Amino acid sequence: MKYDLVVVGGRVAGSIAAYQAAKNGLQVLLLEGNPEIGTPVQCAGGVSDSFFKSTDIKPLPEFTCTRITAATINGPYGASITTGNPIIRGYIIERKIFDKYLALRAAEAGADVLAGSRVKDLMFHEGSVSGVKFRGPDGTCEVKSGIVIAADGIQSCVGRMAGLNTRFRPGELCSCAQYEVTGFDVDDETMEFYFGSVFAPSGYLWVFPKGDGRANVGVGVRRTRCSDNGPLHYLNRFISRAGCSRLEFNAGAVPVGGPIRKTYTDGLLVVGDAAGQVDPLTGGGIHVAAECATIAADVATDAIESQRTDAAFLSKYEDTWREQIGKNLDRSLKFRKVLESLSDDELDTLIGSFDGKDLNSISKISLLKILRHYPKILKMLKNIL
Ligand SMILES: Cc1cc2nc3c(=O)[nH]c(=O)nc-3n(C[C@H](O)[C@H](O)[C@H](O)COP(=O)(O)OP(=O)(O)OC[C@H]3O[C@@H](n4cnc5c(N)ncnc54)[C@H](O)[C@@H]3O)c2cc1C
Repeated sequence: MKYDLVVVGGRVAGSIAAYQAAKNGLQVLLLEGNPEIGTPVQCAGGVSDSFFKSTDIKPLPEFTCTRITAATINGPYGASITTGNPIIRGYIIERKIFDKYLALRAAEAGADVLAGSRVKDLMFHEGSVSGVKFRGPDGTCEVKSGIVIAADGIQSCVGRMAGLNTRFRPGELCSCAQYEVTGFDVDDETMEFYFGSVFAPSGYLWVFPKGDGRANVGVGVRRTRCSDNGPLHYLNRFISRAGCSRLEFNAGAVPVGGPIRKTYTDGLLVVGDAAGQVDPLTGGGIHVAAECATIAADVATDAIESQRTDAAFLSKYEDTWREQIGKNLDRSLKFRKVLESLSDDELDTLIGSFDGKDLNSISKISLLKILRHYPKILKMLKNIL
């Protein structure tokens, strides 16, 4: 068997790359290791309007649970603000259904999709990646390909098999635990965030409404920054007060230390969580993965058409995604470091200081006016704002 492109990993990054490449006319094989695409879920499903505006994906009723128009930010000691700023508007999506929808879209564009097929090794020709070996329902198979895209998530092995350093240090990871609950008192249009060491040391706790009292309630913490307790400890403590029923539990990690140093080599590109392409401040990866996957597919198409699958040609992928989103990811990383350096007192006071301000259209100048009372924060932010 031979394909122009094999994509490893059938979730956001992989399915979008496979769709785009198939639409461009490449012969594409999409391999997903899990028996069912979309499960187990490892996501809270928050997606902003800008995701739908920058892709050709529509917010369809089959995978959108709720329309989000506001967010409440809660401090450790009771300070709280609610904003309807346009940048937070979006949807809570059902990832199980969304991921399957994306894979279906790739299949309809012409890609062959194989769930239950885990890549075990790469094949090489003259030092360049030239295919994959995988174990699937039909046993062990070898498939040759012009290019391989590794969209295999945070534990990415495929990039490593090609000699790239895709390993994240423990300090670069945010450990998460989440329940889908029912019977939770939450406004259907408002996401809730809780900050401070009582809720989530060096991270945050989220409540994302899914409609009719259902919600994804989760916690993300940096394990290297909290003592013995992991995210489940903080999550259980919060949930026990709410007295709701738990429909689902999932856990996972998010790379929040910024992208890996190199995302291409001869015959291979790395995208999505596997490349650390996640917003380091929010931990949101869907939007970033979609953008990078589309770039990867377009570069792979150019490479196949011009018969140039060498690293020098494929470096165009990294140049492009760094140019488009590199600065935003860097800024988010700096913001996260500032937030992490604040004590609970400082966090609560800072959140409280925004109370009564019009957060819907806050400008840089008005932000600086508020922050002038916090010289420590201003000093830290001076290179970011
Ligand atoms: C608890 C939690 C909550 C989150 N909430 C949000 C949120 O609200 N909004 C947001 O934007 N982001 C959120 N994220 C981040 C987001 O889920 C990820 O950034 C996004 O799913 C990355 O997509 P991906 O396709 O790169 O990787 P993944 O979703 O990890 O998919 C990788 C796929 O590759 C497959 N795979 C791995 N190895 C192989 C192999 N050898 N062969 C075949 N297949 C393989 C895996 O089975 C998996 O299906 C959250 C993350 C967590 C952990």
